[in-house]
Amino acid sequence: MAKLLILGGTAEAAELTARLAGDDRLETVTSLAGLTRLPNVGSGQVRRGGFGGPDGLAAFLKNGGYDALVDATHPFAAQIARHAAEAVEMSGTPRVKLVRPAFARTPADRFVPVADIESAAKALPQNARVFLAAGRRELAPFAARSDLWCLVRMIEPPAADEALPKGELILGRPPTDPDAEIALFKEHKIEWIVSKDSGGRAGAKIEAARRLKLPVVLVERPAPPKGTTVESVDAVIAWLESTLFHG
Ligand code: NAP
Repeated sequence: MAKLLILGGTAEAAELTARLAGDDRLETVTSLAGLTRLPNVGSGQVRRGGFGGPDGLAAFLKNGGYDALVDATHPFAAQIARHAAEAVEMSGTPRVKLVRPAFARTPADRFVPVADIESAAKALPQNARVFLAAGRRELAPFAARSDLWCLVRMIEPPAADEALPKGELILGRPPTDPDAEIALFKEHKIEWIVSKDSGGRAGAKIEAARRLKLPVVLVERPAPPKGTTVESVDAVIAWLESTLFHG
């Protein structure tokens, strides 16, 4: 039986394990960073926590007898993607990176593309009222702009030592209904949205911004490390067939 390590923490990783669950040629282990309280893990075995850098991951792959690695981490999880690419060079493990496509653009978008989260904070005009969908450790550039008022939504609470921007904090997952986002943005007189281009379906906040004609400062995804990159779970499964089973 072939053994597969999936670096997860995304809906695609969960979908992949669910689709591979009935395949008795394969044993899957999903690795999670361990930061999220209620992660969607799909099927198969799960392990949690960092590997201790590329050397640690290379040793984990070798000692665990893994035949292949699927890096299905989030497009903005750049460090683990880099570590995975370096680790497989050391261990000689075949690896594929799954990166979902960027948000589809529409004529209704008022996107202001920027390279990173620091540039996003700089792109906002003076005294703007901002909706910010942020991850951990992404708030400092906005906290440094004391003229801004920010409605911040985070899935996990900010770290205890994290500076918060002036405004309000909402904890929770994003709604799927654009009308709920429209009501929220209107209630707080939001003028600008800041979002990462996490890719895939653009989601309710981007649709709400389109309908309200609000500008969106859109943080573009970092380039994936070199190596095979695919955009869908189907393509990962085809890669596994040809790499492990020569199908
Ligand atoms: P990151 O900055 O690229 O990684 C930081 C460190 O966390 C890595 O060096 C690694 O530690 C450990 N790590 C990350 N993902 C791991 C995994 N799947 N299994 C084991 N260790 C992992 O990552 P991040 O942006 O903090 O994201 C952490 C996790 O959350 C990822 O798995 C990602 O798929 C998920 N996620 C991230 C975002 C986002 O916007 N960044 C959004 C949704 C989900 P070592 O070097 O010690 O191995």
